[in-house]
Amino acid sequence: QGKKDGRGVFRVFKSAMDLELKARAQLESELREAIANGEIEPFYQPVVTLPEKTLVGVEVLARWRHPVRGLLAPASFIGIAEETGLISELSMKLLRQACLDARDWPSHFQLAVNIAPQQFQDRWLCERILAILTETGFSPSRLEVEITETALVQDLEAARTTLTSLQNLGVRIALDDFGTGYSSLYHLRELKFDKLKIDRTYVDTITMSAERAKLVDAIIKLGASLGLVTTAEGIETDASVDWLSDQGCDYGQGYLFGAPMPKEAITALIGAPVEEIQAKALALQAA
Ligand code: C2E
Ligand code: MG
Ligand code: MG
Ligand code: MG
Repeated sequence: QGKKDGRGVFRVFKSAMDLELKARAQLESELREAIANGEIEPFYQPVVTLPEKTLVGVEVLARWRHPVRGLLAPASFIGIAEETGLISELSMKLLRQACLDARDWPSHFQLAVNIAPQQFQDRWLCERILAILTETGFSPSRLEVEITETALVQDLEAARTTLTSLQNLGVRIALDDFGTGYSSLYHLRELKFDKLKIDRTYVDTITMSAERAKLVDAIIKLGASLGLVTTAEGIETDASVDWLSDQGCDYGQGYLFGAPMPKEAITALIGAPVEEIQAKALALQAA
């Protein structure tokens, strides 16, 4: 009796796995076509200076404008893009589009792009990025590359070579999601970064927990003493922005200043007074 039940469970489990494999294979081929058809588009999230709250640049964040399922967030496709190697083409197309979009923005306006750990296995990564900058006429000094520590854990030497080449071109390197995952001082010792991005999970609790606040304060001071600038991600309240400014955090990013938005929306914000930017961001949040 029990044996029979067991096999039944196994059969159900196996067919569920088959379905899951089929679904993944379908998602992969759909994504491959979507990249080719230009369905992956860059959204732009404002980056402001603290304490002035001046809009100085944007982070480029991928969105899939799916013909049936609507606008999809990276959580639903970046993972599979990384596993299948599609991330390289996706990412380079996104960078190219962002450099073209930036032609309509002031000449000092900065772009930050996310580079996945898998992309550091590509020994031509730096050359690919340079080719896009050259083709679009976008200055390397206006570009920042965001990486997570996962890339460094996988292959520190490959990452070091690529990061150094990029920095020699004038591209800045930011360590993203600092405070999560493999976070260790080892990477700060071994590699020269330009910026630390303090993860949202720290930032969103600073005004609620004194312990978290102490940690964030320590990260800002650590960055400063190593000559790195700091950005706080995920700022949603006035109280947080005031506190972070007081501690000497250099840049801020978060729904308070604007969620990731399409090119037309960010173009409209550039040049608008700060109060207007915040009012629009709050209106968008409420909507
Ligand atoms: P990330 O690089 O840490 O980007 C910040 C994420 O936090 C974005 O999510 C952004 O929308 C979200 N965020 C910003 N401010 C706030 C806030 O105030 N509150 C809340 N709740 N969230 C906020 P998004 O766009 O969904 O992207 C998620 C992650 O996907 C990114 O995290 C990045 O790791 C990855 N990603 C996005 N685009 C790309 C890409 O082109 N290439 C690669 N390799 N990864 C990407
Ligand atoms: Mg990022
Ligand atoms: Mg981040
Ligand atoms: Mg994050």
